[in-house]
Amino acid sequence: MNETMYAYGAAKSAIREISAYAAARKAEIGAQNVFDFSIGNPSVPAPEAVRASIERALELPPTELHGYTPAAGLPAARAAVAASLNRRFGTAYTAADLYLTVGAAASLSISLHALTNPGDEVVVIAPYFPEYRVWIEVAGCTCVEVSADPETFQVDAAAVAAAVGPRTRAVIVNSPNNPTGAVYTRATLEALAQVLRDASAAHGQPVYLICDEPYREITYGAEVPWVPGIYEHTVVCYSYSKSLSLPGERIGWVLVPNTMPDAERLMAAVAGAGRALGFVCAPALFQRVLVDCVDEPSDVAAYARNREALTAGLARAGYTYVEPDGAFYLWVRALEPDAEAFFARARAHELLPVPSTSFGAPGWVRVSYCVPYETITGSLPAWEALAAEYR
Ligand code: PLP
Repeated sequence: MNETMYAYGAAKSAIREISAYAAARKAEIGAQNVFDFSIGNPSVPAPEAVRASIERALELPPTELHGYTPAAGLPAARAAVAASLNRRFGTAYTAADLYLTVGAAASLSISLHALTNPGDEVVVIAPYFPEYRVWIEVAGCTCVEVSADPETFQVDAAAVAAAVGPRTRAVIVNSPNNPTGAVYTRATLEALAQVLRDASAAHGQPVYLICDEPYREITYGAEVPWVPGIYEHTVVCYSYSKSLSLPGERIGWVLVPNTMPDAERLMAAVAGAGRALGFVCAPALFQRVLVDCVDEPSDVAAYARNREALTAGLARAGYTYVEPDGAFYLWVRALEPDAEAFFARARAHELLPVPSTSFGAPGWVRVSYCVPYETITGSLPAWEALAAEYR
């Protein structure tokens, strides 16, 4: 048995553990009495166009419908994604620039294996999505945490500059951000690009930017700049888990922009990583859905309503939090320095956020608000009672 794999399996993800606890607790005391703010499972249904597309696909001969696609995905699906990006960002991508994946998780694993060699370092901006560390370490690399700006939770370019060295091969950024809801501004990304250009020049090889963007469409008015237009060595990882509410269907992509130096070789390495990791041929049915639904809008209004109710309620109870510009997470300051201790006291009120320790930061909790509106409104007395304990 591989002890590293055993450790990953035995330790489990805190988010999934809390989510499993919530399910068990709901069975015990009733769903309406448990406020599960743990996992980022969208509460809005997938667009009606997704169902219509599936129904049309079911008319295909079964051997075609259920057959293997090319390893990188159906040319028509990749062309549809490329055309959508071109319309939105004025680019000139083609199907050849895209590799379809089983969600952003696979996109990131593939990108890391394609871009790095064992012994390299990969920088993450803390707080960060906890699985990054697993994927980085499995690629044989070291995960280097760099704290975000403690006020704005934007990338602190000077801190990144201090952390990059000759072994740094990539930086992962995630905007809109899980867990803070921050959306990186153009100025932030330009400052980061300059740091990476300087580091690339100093060490004689490119430092890549891996942009993890499953929340790109979920914003509350903020611009989400197209990063390959800002930094030439950018790979984009995307999934439809959040934008089309399809997290269980496992469909996303890696983009190696054709504007990137050495793009063709890098795309071959992406295909090689997909092959080596066993991630060839993303789910065929949902590749077909992409052909029809790639431009379907996300239902951001539901999340905006939740965000309003949650932030207003928590502010009234005296909590402080980062004003979220995107995604569907609220980063709330714990009412004591120990986030785990605060979580334990929240749990006693049937409130189930995720302590910030899981995200590589002390003193906060993440409240996932992609939940039914009634969960938010129903939870407010419990948040108030929790705050009252600390007064
Ligand atoms: N990256 C971030 C920042 C996420 O929040 C998630 C899922 O919550 C993922 C990647 C993985 O996404 P997927 O479900 O598409 O694999």
